[in-house]
Amino acid sequence: MGRPVTNFDADLAELCKDMFETMYDAEGVGLAAPQIGLDLRLFVMDCDGIKLIAANPQIVESSGEQSSPEGCLSVGKVPAVVPRPMIARLRAQDELGEWFEREAEGYAARAFMHETDHCDGKLFIDHLPKMRREMVIKRFKKEKNWK
Ligand SMILES: [Zn+2]
Repeated sequence: MGRPVTNFDADLAELCKDMFETMYDAEGVGLAAPQIGLDLRLFVMDCDGIKLIAANPQIVESSGEQSSPEGCLSVGKVPAVVPRPMIARLRAQDELGEWFEREAEGYAARAFMHETDHCDGKLFIDHLPKMRREMVIKRFKKEKNWK
């Protein structure tokens, strides 16, 4: 589990800018600080029309279900089908430290949960059954096409 973000200063704004650039370069829709080796509860995303910075994110509500392929820059984008709730409500702080809540459905809801998991030290493959998880890791090791 990462450390909470406590300093909402120019350094944080700069870091978020860098994270967006890294994410766009890698053609991802979200990037969490732990993915670039920072022990911080912070992510950026731009997915399905929702672009935001989330510091100290929490999923406060979720409902329904969806089961779609999910990928991750940390495992070379090898996709795997992960069941998730269909709708999720995110509570987080922006780069100025203001708390906000945002609800999303489908792909963007999936991104909320996926990136919040990263901040909690989890990878999406942790949601998979053991055999399926080992298959994804094996494919990942073979392809190693991540940045
Ligand atoms: Zn990821």
